[in-house]
Amino acid sequence: MRWACIWLLCPLGPLVLLSASTNPPNVLLIFADDLGFGDLGSYGHPTSATPNLDKMAARGLRFTDFYASCPICSPSRAALLTGRYQTRSGVYPGVFYPGSRGGLPLSELTIAEVLKARGYTTAMVGKWHLGLGANGSFLPIHQGFDHFLGVPYSHDQHTHYPQFGSQEYVGQSLRGPFGDALMEFDGSVGLLLQALQENGLEGNTLVFFTADNGPETMRMARGGSSGLLKCGKGTTYEGGMREPAVAYWPGRISPGVTHEMASTLDILPTLAALAGAPLPTVPLDGYDLSPVLFGGGKSPRQMMFYYPPSPSKLLGVFAIRYGKYKAHFFTQGAFLSGTTPDQDCHGLTPLKSHEPPLLFDLEADPAENYNLLQGGAVGPEVLRVVKEIQLHKALFDQRMEFGESQIGKGIDSALQPCCAPGCTPKPSCCHCS
Ligand code: MG
Repeated sequence: MRWACIWLLCPLGPLVLLSASTNPPNVLLIFADDLGFGDLGSYGHPTSATPNLDKMAARGLRFTDFYASCPICSPSRAALLTGRYQTRSGVYPGVFYPGSRGGLPLSELTIAEVLKARGYTTAMVGKWHLGLGANGSFLPIHQGFDHFLGVPYSHDQHTHYPQFGSQEYVGQSLRGPFGDALMEFDGSVGLLLQALQENGLEGNTLVFFTADNGPETMRMARGGSSGLLKCGKGTTYEGGMREPAVAYWPGRISPGVTHEMASTLDILPTLAALAGAPLPTVPLDGYDLSPVLFGGGKSPRQMMFYYPPSPSKLLGVFAIRYGKYKAHFFTQGAFLSGTTPDQDCHGLTPLKSHEPPLLFDLEADPAENYNLLQGGAVGPEVLRVVKEIQLHKALFDQRMEFGESQIGKGIDSALQPCCAPGCTPKPSCCHCS
């Protein structure tokens, strides 16, 4: 976890007068950066100090099977904001850099724009990482946000390493610098929840917490943890994309744990339904999660498609989750997932094609240890599942329309706010010659 990204959206007008039962709710989306499935106390970490997030998890709905759309930052954020796989918006391959010419296309409709149509005031605080562009043309204020206070991309492209911790938190956790930064992030969440309570907004505000991708284990103990899940950031194993997630709305969402499948792709359709806002008239990849949030119902999501950081039309999705089963058609390691004992995760582990696919039962084997198609007799259910997943892959890949690559537009160093990162004194030395 390197930086907290907080997206705040609230209906226009005197908030305290709005009633949760008859009016659209305020929405607070808290999106952590590079936080793994195993990083929170409420998800099993023995030494993390995350009392506020754990309180949210205890009093809200905690997801065990929640997915980001991609195991790296920019594509994951594009999908959260648009409800569409990043391939459609062209946010691939990889991530945006300070001098990137491209950005999330302004033609894409974001959550902020969808809610603004229903009278919401919108703000974005924290890391954006969806493009900067000439004169800041790709910044949040051009994508439906009324206010933006934050950084345009990852802070490791200025001051990333080591993690920042303020005096109040440094040395306070048992997990070292990562734990201190996580503890500070959790403290900020606590302040937000306190502000909602003190202003009488808790009963009419949906707070949703999750993260953009799995841990950067190349940083070893300072990179986060995917817990029992395999690998982390940059890979299409579970550790790269399965994330902690909590929906918190006292009085509306009953406390509990859900094993229903859900994704960041589902946030836009869910919020649109809550606000009574029309959906964008473009192909969407998300579903309204209201049945899961407000009644313990089944999730409309039955499948999850896993794209690698650099997707291609030729290979299509690398893996598919279908109910409790997951099939890997391609696997590849990632330098971002280095240093752990599992060689499958490492950057030098090349792309491998699997035909038949590797098949895992994620309910019995969430760590993806035991390939059901390797050795022994294969039962008829498994054979049927493999055929169905193969068919779904063929159909999905065939129908996916890749938007023009925005990251492929390359770099223009003149777009960087500071072309000489080592210069001094800042900020006066920050210019491009
Ligand atoms: Mg990230």
